[in-house]
Amino acid sequence: MTTFENLGLRNEIITAVDCLGFENPMPVQEQVIPFVMNETRDLIALAQTGTGKTAAFGLPLLNMIDNTKKQIQALILSPTRELCIQISNDLKNYAQYMHATKIVPVYGGENIVSQIRQLAEQPQILVATPGRLIDLINRKKIKFDNVKFLVLDEADEMLNMGFQEDLETILQNVPDERRTLLFSATMPKEIEHIAQKYMNESKSISIGIRNSGSDNVEHVYYSVQASNRYAALKRIVDINPDIYGIVFCRTRQETKDVAEKLMRDGYNADALHGDLSQPQRDSVMSKFRIRNLQILVATDVAARGLDVNDLTHVINYNLPDDVEIYTHRSGRTGRANKKGISVSIIHSREHKRINEIERMVKKTFKKEAVPSGLDICKRQLFYMIERMEHVQVNDDQINQFLPHVFKKLEYLQKEDVIRRFVSLEFNRFLDYYKNAADLNIPDKPNHNESNKSRNGRNRENSGNREKTSKRGQRIRMKINFGAKQNASPRSVLGLINDTTNDKSINISNIEISNKFTFFDVFADQSEQLINAFYRNNRTPFVIDIVKENKRQQQYQDAEYNFYENVRKSTRSAKSQKSNINKRKRKRTRY
Ligand code: AMP
Repeated sequence: MTTFENLGLRNEIITAVDCLGFENPMPVQEQVIPFVMNETRDLIALAQTGTGKTAAFGLPLLNMIDNTKKQIQALILSPTRELCIQISNDLKNYAQYMHATKIVPVYGGENIVSQIRQLAEQPQILVATPGRLIDLINRKKIKFDNVKFLVLDEADEMLNMGFQEDLETILQNVPDERRTLLFSATMPKEIEHIAQKYMNESKSISIGIRNSGSDNVEHVYYSVQASNRYAALKRIVDINPDIYGIVFCRTRQETKDVAEKLMRDGYNADALHGDLSQPQRDSVMSKFRIRNLQILVATDVAARGLDVNDLTHVINYNLPDDVEIYTHRSGRTGRANKKGISVSIIHSREHKRINEIERMVKKTFKKEAVPSGLDICKRQLFYMIERMEHVQVNDDQINQFLPHVFKKLEYLQKEDVIRRFVSLEFNRFLDYYKNAADLNIPDKPNHNESNKSRNGRNRENSGNREKTSKRGQRIRMKINFGAKQNASPRSVLGLINDTTNDKSINISNIEISNKFTFFDVFADQSEQLINAFYRNNRTPFVIDIVKENKRQQQYQDAEYNFYENVRKSTRSAKSQKSNINKRKRKRTRY
């Protein structure tokens, strides 16, 4: 087995990687490190982020620079400031025992004067974003005469971000005798053009198959109606309580909307998009990096600078138009030998796109059923129980409080304690999913089914039945627009149509009371209604689900019985009952 020792690296470097916990070289390092140290050719490496490529070029560069000379000997270009800072920090870690070695990052959005000051200290390695480097070249603050290595990291991203011209200017400025090491996750024609024009006889290596995602990534998709995308997203998140992932959206507006809805619905989520200022972006990213945020909703552009290794999921809220974007997104999970899942939420007309992407990335996508409310409740419950089983009990700290707690709960049996604890943590899911519709739509509707009917009327009926089962049951909703405000069925329908901007919402069974209007709607449209009214700042009206169906009543009865039993077994019966009544009133007051 290859080790860092037998790759011929300096002792200081071996000690450093050992301190960082690197046991053995990763595949890209096994190929690149000896090549850079022992050969003189250029390199084109097709490798995704997360495969260990920073150490693959960083370790041999550190090994080969002459740190007795204070001159820039290696120039590393990266597409974003975040990646630039990260590469620089990684290299500083690898060089922590090489005291004479200086590494400086220069990137946009930061005071150029302080960067010029750092450059004056003559680092041996400069890590730069193209725009800032051009600025420094124009100010004649950089000397490239001694550059022996030029690394283009995430070259495809640099081109995607419009740095082609800057890149060519830089390539013309560094000495011809340098060696160029180009790393890219994909190999579009433009990269091949750069390679032909500016690189000499080069070796090509590929970690994984061309244009393919990492083997550690499982690709799955969920097929739902477009209007159910958000509901499906929530279920995917809920069935994965441990999720730590990025939800990719197409536009800034969609990113904001999805993040806002998630936050409003109680998820630990935030948005990352181009309308945020740099400090706001930095703050969101650092919260996400340290896992203070579980879900990041982002545009592709904004997420570029974010490098996080242990994402469990990448979720394509929409399929990207470009397969390369899909590769980039999915390549953000399954890194550093960890497993990851790339999820796509698609609607019925997008199956063809899935087939296209499957062909391009040479991976089979698994169709998963959107979990039912019951599946989610079960999963959440057992997740919570497992957490409770494995929680670290810190006796030293809690012992002082326990006698008081025991005394307070002494009237409860163990079963009662468990039931209350489960309800406390779990009611959110029970409440939300109690009327949950089936969000799945079949891949190919089975036309033969309806043709079996003997006459047109039956065909029509069977079509309606299928529609009803697809859309879920009808549920009762209410709006705070009633007879007092001269509500009529017509004005209620008009209000709903205007606010949702969607005439397809199927309303029936309208009943108008003094303050409210009640009506039935398909379960899958209820959320659309609630959201439309919630988002419209100009409307004073609020739509809500009426919580008086049978299951709800059973649930309330069971809850009432539960508290009644508790009441009987306690001395403070009186105060308990008044609490119960308060709770009941709260639940049935609309
Ligand atoms: P990169 O592709 O350079 O972003 O690296 C991905 C992650 O793998 C980083 O967190 C590195 O610290 C880590 N890494 C790099 N090389 C090794 C190694 N040989 N063993 C374990 N982890 C590594």
